[in-house]
Amino acid sequence: MTFTEITPSATIEDARHGGRAKCLQRLIRLDMPVPRTVALSFDAVHRISTGDMPDLDAMLALFGPDPLVSVRPSSEDPDWGGPGAILNIGMNDAVHAKLISTHGEVAANALYLRFIQAYAVHVGRLDPDEFETFSIATDDALRAALDLYEEETESYFPQDPKEQLAEILRSMARAWEGTTARLLRQAKGAPADAGLGLVVQKMALGVGQNTCGSGVIKFVDGRTGHRKIRGRYLCKSQGRDALAEEGDRDVMYLTKDSRGRSIEEVLPENFANLVKFGDLCRTRLREEMEIEFTIDNEELFILDAVRVQRSERANVRIAVSLANDGIISREDAVLRIPPRALSELLHSQFDPTDKRDRFGLGIAASPGAATGKIVFNARAAQAAAAKGDDCILVRSETSPEDIRGMHAARGILTVRGGITSHAAVIARGLGLPCVVGAQDLMIDEKQRKLATRDGRSFTEGDVISIDGSTGEAYAGAVTMLSPELGIAFQTLMEWADDFRDIGVRANADTPPDARNARMFAAEGIGLCRTEHMFIDDDRLLAMREMVFADHADDRRAALDRLLPMQRADFTELFEIMQGLPVCIRLFDPPLHEFLPHGREGLRELAEALDLPLRDVERRVAGLREFNPMLGMRGVRLGITVPEIYDMQARAIFEATVEASKRGDPVVPEVMIPLVSAKREVEIVKARVDAVAAEVRIETGADFTYRLGVMVETPRAALRAGEIAQHAAFLSFGTNDLTQMTYGLSRDDAGRFMGEYVSQGVYEEDPFHTLDTDGVGELLQIGAARGRDVDRDLTLSICGEHGGNPESIRFCRDAGFDYVSCSPFRVPVARLAAAHLALEDYVRKDLATD
Ligand code: PEP
Ligand code: MG
Repeated sequence: MTFTEITPSATIEDARHGGRAKCLQRLIRLDMPVPRTVALSFDAVHRISTGDMPDLDAMLALFGPDPLVSVRPSSEDPDWGGPGAILNIGMNDAVHAKLISTHGEVAANALYLRFIQAYAVHVGRLDPDEFETFSIATDDALRAALDLYEEETESYFPQDPKEQLAEILRSMARAWEGTTARLLRQAKGAPADAGLGLVVQKMALGVGQNTCGSGVIKFVDGRTGHRKIRGRYLCKSQGRDALAEEGDRDVMYLTKDSRGRSIEEVLPENFANLVKFGDLCRTRLREEMEIEFTIDNEELFILDAVRVQRSERANVRIAVSLANDGIISREDAVLRIPPRALSELLHSQFDPTDKRDRFGLGIAASPGAATGKIVFNARAAQAAAAKGDDCILVRSETSPEDIRGMHAARGILTVRGGITSHAAVIARGLGLPCVVGAQDLMIDEKQRKLATRDGRSFTEGDVISIDGSTGEAYAGAVTMLSPELGIAFQTLMEWADDFRDIGVRANADTPPDARNARMFAAEGIGLCRTEHMFIDDDRLLAMREMVFADHADDRRAALDRLLPMQRADFTELFEIMQGLPVCIRLFDPPLHEFLPHGREGLRELAEALDLPLRDVERRVAGLREFNPMLGMRGVRLGITVPEIYDMQARAIFEATVEASKRGDPVVPEVMIPLVSAKREVEIVKARVDAVAAEVRIETGADFTYRLGVMVETPRAALRAGEIAQHAAFLSFGTNDLTQMTYGLSRDDAGRFMGEYVSQGVYEEDPFHTLDTDGVGELLQIGAARGRDVDRDLTLSICGEHGGNPESIRFCRDAGFDYVSCSPFRVPVARLAAAHLALEDYVRKDLATD
């Protein structure tokens, strides 16, 4: 059979006839008044495109004499699109004459004219604009449209319904096979060989007198997810006309409304049935559906139903409400929300309906949307914030000096840098929208100007907007939708936690970060980058004194000033995280990052340190390294300038004693960065143990702590076996590990990454998506060698990949205990982890069936 009438028992499958055909069958099974419908399979439609028509005589015979039908696309996933619906196939002079007697001249003209227009455009490929001119359905317009068709095609308008239908099916089938349509649907995730089904349905006319018409109704607000009747009904209309914004001609409200008549009042029986069908869709199709219907002489016809289009926040509310009402399971509700979609709930978004003027594109480094005045340095950002002005910090790239400005800004835009650059990492921690590596922009920080390659320019104070989820920058302000963490979100996350089997911690450096980590229910802090605590003005100076000290004693004196501040930092973190583990990484960056860059900064420093400018310059020059990221940083500082780690260890342990007095005992985790040799761990461990012993004696309090190693050099991964002998945990720092595995600077890769990905050299930016082949193999080797030595060794990942659903899959498969990511990505990670556990469960269930 080349076509199948859709009946309750017919064999109709999503994968052969498409989602619309299958949905129509479900509506028919639920006894909804669906006009007679026929489905053409993917295979049949493909054959039509090659000229092999089904038996159209037999098909049309199903629709009686003078058939009038519509054809609609039915792809496997409705999001993949397809050709537009064509209505009123079968209209010809004879049917037109009959309709004049039954429905009046205006209605008959309107139907015929509409069909001529659709046929001319879709089959005859004529210019739509020329046919647009016939907007009023007079007899003259009808004649003129037919004349135009004949003139342009040099043939009569076909009168035979079979010929009309054949041509329409052929044009739809061919449109689907065209290159543009294929590329468009592939962009939406359709496979290259995705098929198109078609449904041919008897028309319910809806153009008669008085209340006849068509409309759409849904029972939920697609923006918020709240249950509410929404939709439109237009008298004397067809298809989805009611949704076209063409004034309010002959509109009827769906529910009682003081502004005019409503279906609820005028056609109460039809209304009651619509509500009943909506409920049936919800309970039996287990989804909120938008129903397309026609009322013809007070008789209701259901033509189609599609899943309500919705925002991500509405999607969450709908899924939770369906599960709360027992219609779907909690597992199903959790699986219905794509983890990445949570971003929309957690951050501000631009209103998708707003117009935008894009001037730049970079790497989407931290999600969310922000609007504000341009500022070009941290000081200006702080000044703007003090005045209550929203600002966007625009820099070539950021450095630790900019942190306070970053805190003050609404968003960050940089010209250089990649996904793990300083700006990106800090912004993600703060939950600030950030776009990095917008290379087509040129900044003149001195002149305070931002220019584009095509000649546009902006100065300080101009308002711009950035979208950290897409990497786009726009001129002017864009309307914003606020984030929403309502009850539905919390409920969904609690359900997700019930299912997942890998831990999720947060990377949090400051008390506000830690509060966010708690708000998003992280199970602890997986990485506290302590260097971010030295940025405040008073600390920075002590830090600089320490850097400038020539002798260990001077260095210790400067560090003594930092000790109480660090102790207070850690006490506060322990108190906020009460009862949850906190992993503190010892100092990591090269010291020169704490020194000023410009001449003015050096002069101010000379003044503060009471040193000649020349000395300061000499010292700064002495600290300069050709390759600072591979130089004197991390544990190398810990070995060569041990006073810094001593001070930090003391601050951690004194804070442990302090916080344990007021709450649960704290068990701090101390992590050594950038390790590449076992001996480094031995040396640092001996000193940290000694500091712990001192603090125990001095305070008379007992405590324990766990010492761990950050695996972020390839050698540490390869030698994980011997390193694990001295460590309670290994945490993989995949930012540096990726940098060192590829030999690729994480700060400079943005320059060519776009080109590399577009040419397919790398499938993805490896700083963004974990390279499971190369870096991943090192993770597996490290994990296996570590666990060989100690079966209880805790394994985790704390690089930026930790919040990435694909990386979480990899880490879970490799037997990791937890992932750690920026606080704002914690919910995404929790949900992604739940998906993995549920998918595994379903797979195992299928395997035992
Ligand atoms: C890493 O290298 O993966 C890491 C987490 O440390 P940082 O980004 O601070 O170098
Ligand atoms: Mg690192």
